[in-house]
Amino acid sequence: MDYTILVMLMKDLVILPYQEIKIELKDEISKKIVKIANKKFANRILIVSPSGNELEPSIEDLPKIGVVSLIKSKLELSNGNLRLTLKGEKRVKICEYTSYSDDIISASVMDINLPKLEENGKEVVKKKLKDTLNEYIDASPNITNSIVSMIKDNEDLDFLTDAITTFLPLKPQKKMPYMVEANYEKRAINLIKDIKLEIKYLKLEEKIENRVEMRLSKEQEEYYLKEKLKEIESVLGIKDENENVRVYYDRLNELTLEKKTKEKLEGEIKKLERMSTSSPEKASLQSYLDWVLYLPWNISSKENLNAKKVMSSLNKSHYGLTKIKNRVIDYLNVKNLNNDIPSPIICLVGPPGVGKTTITKSIASSLNREFYKISVGGLNDSTELIGSRRTYLGALPGKIIEALKKCNTNNPVILIDEVDKMVKDFKGDPASTLLDILDSTQNKYFTDYYIEEPFDLSKVMFVLTANEISNIPYTLIDRLEVIELSSYNVYEKLDIAKKYLLPSIYNEFNLTKKLVIKDDTLMYLINNYTRESGVRNLKRVLRTLVTKVVSSKSSYTITTKSLSKYLEDLKEEVNINITYPGVVNALAYTPLGGITFKVECSIYEGKEEIIVTGSLGDVLKESVMVGLSYLKENNLISKDDVKDKTIHLHFLDASTKKEGPSCGVSIITAILSKIKNVIIDSKTTFTGEISLKGDILKVGGIKEKIIAAYNAGIKTIYIPLDNASDLKEIPKKILDKLEIKKVSKYSDIYKEIFKNNIA
Ligand code: ADP
Repeated sequence: MDYTILVMLMKDLVILPYQEIKIELKDEISKKIVKIANKKFANRILIVSPSGNELEPSIEDLPKIGVVSLIKSKLELSNGNLRLTLKGEKRVKICEYTSYSDDIISASVMDINLPKLEENGKEVVKKKLKDTLNEYIDASPNITNSIVSMIKDNEDLDFLTDAITTFLPLKPQKKMPYMVEANYEKRAINLIKDIKLEIKYLKLEEKIENRVEMRLSKEQEEYYLKEKLKEIESVLGIKDENENVRVYYDRLNELTLEKKTKEKLEGEIKKLERMSTSSPEKASLQSYLDWVLYLPWNISSKENLNAKKVMSSLNKSHYGLTKIKNRVIDYLNVKNLNNDIPSPIICLVGPPGVGKTTITKSIASSLNREFYKISVGGLNDSTELIGSRRTYLGALPGKIIEALKKCNTNNPVILIDEVDKMVKDFKGDPASTLLDILDSTQNKYFTDYYIEEPFDLSKVMFVLTANEISNIPYTLIDRLEVIELSSYNVYEKLDIAKKYLLPSIYNEFNLTKKLVIKDDTLMYLINNYTRESGVRNLKRVLRTLVTKVVSSKSSYTITTKSLSKYLEDLKEEVNINITYPGVVNALAYTPLGGITFKVECSIYEGKEEIIVTGSLGDVLKESVMVGLSYLKENNLISKDDVKDKTIHLHFLDASTKKEGPSCGVSIITAILSKIKNVIIDSKTTFTGEISLKGDILKVGGIKEKIIAAYNAGIKTIYIPLDNASDLKEIPKKILDKLEIKKVSKYSDIYKEIFKNNIA
């Protein structure tokens, strides 16, 4: 049979049958409920304790069990509150919540028919409960005799569980499940577990008490209590809610911080302490504290300032690269005199694979600093570097703070890769942000948006890398010490392969037996299997070779012939062969280093027009126009040669974009070759800008271009006379094998190549 009763929602209030409690009511609705209960419900109300965190839980979320309670007495207090003494009577099942009036909830409830239990089973549980309880009573000094006798004399398990739960010192959250569990057997089993846990607490407490002397000052007492709590928790595997807060305070005390920062962080921890477990902000505040308190504020690695050792370690890891190695040694020498000098901000510029990243790593390890690489290629958003404000959803610190955290030291070497590929757009200008990060006058107070407190970056050594100097934002460039790393020639590659790459591969594979490979074979491999300025691909090819040789268990002696067996599909020969008129081997300097490529020219009857195809920059297209005008004006070609003809120029190797005007000479040579029907020598190539008047003008990247030409097997190179001084940078070994022709006017080339050949 169901009946109606008024509901009083009391969050976090636990009342059990047989239990008496006192509560104070402030709000008018509760007072009204008490009045109505007195008049119409024989002074009885239903106490319902909502779980969850909402202030106004919805009806569906309310518990389905409540405790009917008798209002034993009430007293109006001077502050207007109403004090009640309630006595729990019984649990009832709530069939439905109804509304008694606009602001009062009622419920239709039913008494609970307790499930019939096996008599034997009941006895066993009861005995276990009583035994466990006796053990607890023995250990606990605070149990009164009346409680002991009440329990001893009663045999009703339903009553016993409620009575015991009432006096057991459990937290309200732990007691709550007992209020809403009607099945007394289940309650009894849970209670046994909880009592056992309490016994463990008691025993442990006793142990600690015995161990610690009681002559404690106030401070010691606090410390002792904290330790005691920690020990209890660790034994029981329990994490107290305030454990985190305590750990945060401990951590803060360990740190040496600016006063302002310390105060602010203390404030944040206090805020956390005051927050209720359910607060949605709690997790984000905790993750903020996890970031900020565990930054390496005071941790530095001890720098190795021994210049000799550093140099020897750099030489061990990298061939050449003397400019950068010497710069590091200079820095050390000065630092040995004055420890406070800021680290240089070095920017390594060069094609891929020339060792920019790995030498920086070696610098870090030889100086005994941590290393971290941040890539800023394609980055257009400053917040990636300096974090986003904590108020944003999912806010995080930027890459710099992330780097420091990962390194866990405040003086790592941070490599900022691809600074020539940052993008400036509406989201911000990462280059100017980077400037603030690098500038030693400002970065002492570097403030990440998320962290909010200044972190001193002045001990960090920043090394930047780029492929092309002209693409580095101009705001940055004059703050940097640019060190250019140029392409390797084949001799250098040979040396690197023998002394660095192969040994490091053997090391990787743990090989004791080495390949037997002659210089000629290695040189053949370099020339025909790798086409690059650096040696990254070379290392990859060598690794493949070693893997295949080892796994095929065949001879470790490698010949040019066996190379093709192992590396068949990796061949990357540069084909410089020319068999038709209208084709020329040209040179270009790209961000990836120097390259050789072919310029092809076709001329056929049709619309009088010029078509230019291939991957080109605009300047190169203009070079074609200039070249043609020069040829026409100087009658090097006749009007009939081009009248009603389409001239199509194609620049091969579409994958690499060629910029700049330095192809002018090659372009007109290709046109002339076609018109004059002269096949240009495959082993000859050209570089130089052409003016309308036929002057050959100075160009950039001579060293890179000559090395590329040499690596491709070219023998003769025409270069502008004005570039003659650049030849000093090229190793004599290479120059001796080339014929370099320095020219200032195109007519000189014309005379040599066409005049003699024209029938
Ligand atoms: P980058 O950063 O310039 O693209 P990496 O530093 O990644 O080039 O180098 C690519 C590979 O070439 C690495 O395995 C590196 O060890 C090797 N390497 C490059 N230059 C040298 C050198 N001078 N001496 C020894 N190994 C080198």
